[in-house]
Amino acid sequence: MDFDSSHYLLQCSLCGAEYAAEPLRLECDMLHAPALLKTVYRKPRLEINRAFSGIFQFSDWLPIARVLEVSGQPITYHSVPLGDYLGLPHLYVVFNGYWPQREAGLMTGSFKELEAPCVLARVPESYGKTLVIASAGNTGRAFATLCSKLQIPLCLVIPEQSLSSIWSTEPFHPCIKLIVVQDGDYTDAIALASQISQRDGFFPGGGAANVARRDGMGLTVVDATLTLGQIPHHYVQAVGSGSGGIAAWEANRRLIGDGRFGPHRMQVHLAQNVPFTPMVDAWKAGMDQIDIGSEAIAKARIGQTAAMVLTNRNPAYAIAGGVYDALVDTGGHMYAVTNNAARQAQHLFESLEGMDICPASGVATAALIQAVTMNRIAKDDVVLLNITSGGIRQIQQDYHLHEMEPTLAVSRHTPLSAILKALA
Ligand SMILES: *Cc1c(COP(=O)(O)O)cnc(C)c1O
Ligand SMILES: [Zn+2]
Repeated sequence: MDFDSSHYLLQCSLCGAEYAAEPLRLECDMLHAPALLKTVYRKPRLEINRAFSGIFQFSDWLPIARVLEVSGQPITYHSVPLGDYLGLPHLYVVFNGYWPQREAGLMTGSFKELEAPCVLARVPESYGKTLVIASAGNTGRAFATLCSKLQIPLCLVIPEQSLSSIWSTEPFHPCIKLIVVQDGDYTDAIALASQISQRDGFFPGGGAANVARRDGMGLTVVDATLTLGQIPHHYVQAVGSGSGGIAAWEANRRLIGDGRFGPHRMQVHLAQNVPFTPMVDAWKAGMDQIDIGSEAIAKARIGQTAAMVLTNRNPAYAIAGGVYDALVDTGGHMYAVTNNAARQAQHLFESLEGMDICPASGVATAALIQAVTMNRIAKDDVVLLNITSGGIRQIQQDYHLHEMEPTLAVSRHTPLSAILKALA
């Protein structure tokens, strides 16, 4: 179903220039430092649209040109066992994944399933070009599953080590083309996807610059605030590109504008996985730019992290309206979490709460433990812990999973012309 897109505008977070809702605009036209565009919705007050399914019930606050048939939403619950353990009586978990007892049904098991439908729905059905997405795993699984179900063409580029994370509870449709970069990491996959997306017949997902991606992820905070009836004081998440952290901050502003949920600015607590912590390092050094250092060192560090989804080498940190600005604006903090601490936190969550969570969610949980230990969170504060992915082991037990065969395996040196030829 097509949808009237006049319900929102795009606004540059640096110069304030405004643009009408265009499905593919990713940046401001003015010549200035890099800056994110943000959405401004006509309706300051959110109305739930029960005629639509899943996250499209929040269509008032999504930059979309159509509505898709999807199910699955984030769910927010009062986390009593973990809250007791941490001495936080007002700890809430927003859980993104599969947990049948709590009616959590994101069947690809992560909050990338909030991003994918919005990015797809931002382009009208008649657009006729193929979306190109790079992924370290969860994004790819979400897009491949959704595009397969809705039969929307997709070109997905992943590093070879992520191949095992492209699975689905349903068989994949041949409209999904999967390219595996054999000797590359996530950033190499991003570079190849970017090249393909500039060619005829393709268009880019846009990463953190795509407002649809961020407003989809921001639904975690919208869902939590509607459930609690108030904006939380603290928000805790593990970050790689930073999109989810920025999205939470943006959703917070929108919720303040709604007027029903209080004027709080949530303090954002964002975490990365040691030894690959470029945003933590920059923030702790008081820098508004990140320094990745040599490619070889970055790659060696990435190879040692448990939470591969957090290893983006080009995060939206320094860009205006990005992670640095969110941290400054909210008095936020960043945390470095070791593999060991993440693993222990994963076990702690599972033993107390009763559902498996992925390493990135372990990183977030461990960061919450650090924040409490450092007295950054007062006992009576309302805390929102984003479990960005959980229940994957449970899905594997409950379903037969289909894996995806690569359409094409390439090296970092394969000429683009050969890749395009093979795709055609
Ligand atoms: C992508 C991802 C993250 C990090 O998301 P950002 O884009 O950096 O906000 C965290 N956890 C999981 C499970 C993810 O898939
Ligand atoms: Zn601008």
